[in-house]
Formats: sequence, C-alpha cells, structure tokens
Amino acid sequence: MPNASTRWVPLRWPVRRCVVRNVARTPADIVARIKDAAASGDDVFGFRHEALVSALDFDHAQPYLQETLTPADWTDEEALDLVEMATNYFNFALQKILSHRGISSIRSVGKLREYAWLMGRDDAVAAMDAAPYEQYGAPKVKGVGVALGYPWPAGDARLERMAAGQECRAGCRDGCGR
Ligand SMILES: [Zn+2]
Repeated sequence: MPNASTRWVPLRWPVRRCVVRNVARTPADIVARIKDAAASGDDVFGFRHEALVSALDFDHAQPYLQETLTPADWTDEEALDLVEMATNYFNFALQKILSHRGISSIRSVGKLREYAWLMGRDDAVAAMDAAPYEQYGAPKVKGVGVALGYPWPAGDARLERMAAGQECRAGCRDGCGR
C-alpha cells in the first residue's frame, strides 16, 4: 500500500473500456474530472481515475492508456452499460461491507461515486458525500443506493447497524470501528 505521503496516480491503467452506454457527461467533462481527481489527493489507489478513463472513447482516453493499446483493443465488445456497472458495484460493496474488507470497500465506494456522477446524478453524489465513511463505507453506500433506487437488503441487522455508523454487532472484533 502506498504511504500517505505518496501521491500515486496510476496513469495508463485501464486495459479495456468498461462503460460506454448511458454516460450523461461529455468527454470534456470527464477529462476535467480526471484532472480534478488527480489534483485532489483523495484518489491514492486510482479507483476514481480508472472508472472515469473507462468511460472515454479511445481518442480521449489515449493519453491515459498503455502505449501499446490500439483502438481495436478499446472496443465496445466487452463494455457494460453504466447502470449495470453501478448495480454490480453496489452489490459488491454490500458484500465487502459485510465481510469487512477495507481496500475493496474503498474501491467500491470510489467507483460508485464516479458511476453516479457519469450518470449525471449529482443528487446521488451529494447523498454519498453527505454520509460519513464509517464501517467500510456503509452509510455512503446506503446514501447512494437510496438515491439511485437500488434495493437495500431488508432485515439484515448488521447492515442496518453499519449504515447507521455503528459496529455490525456489539464488540465486533473483525474490524468495525477501526
Ligand atoms: Zn463488524
């Protein structure tokens, strides 16, 4: 893991295009946000960067891609719909919250935020930003999920407690509150 003083931005990371459909932002908007994410210092693992570059066409993405990558590599064949990607990451985030996986949770929260932004859903991004990151991002994931209309698992006491910023159970020794 990079230490806090290392501003590590993994340029030229995505190796295939992930998102092509339903992107509400222009390439110019996305490139501006890539630069903002790099300057912000809050994207040390590059998860925001990766999500944003994946939403660009080849010409706009090319400065951020491996030099050997060709337009044919950056095809739409394996691309997923943006809503499908966000839904996948929402469900992934729920699993990682329950299994108390720190880095995976940072990844899913970071990607969900950018996918919501790419959808043009500033309201969902604001709901995420207003929630604290406690307990593996559970409050943020619930905030964005509710805004986007994703079903929150009913009746899971651990998720309810974590989304309220509490330990999954009293005295959790698996990582809550750390
Ligand atoms: Zn716990």
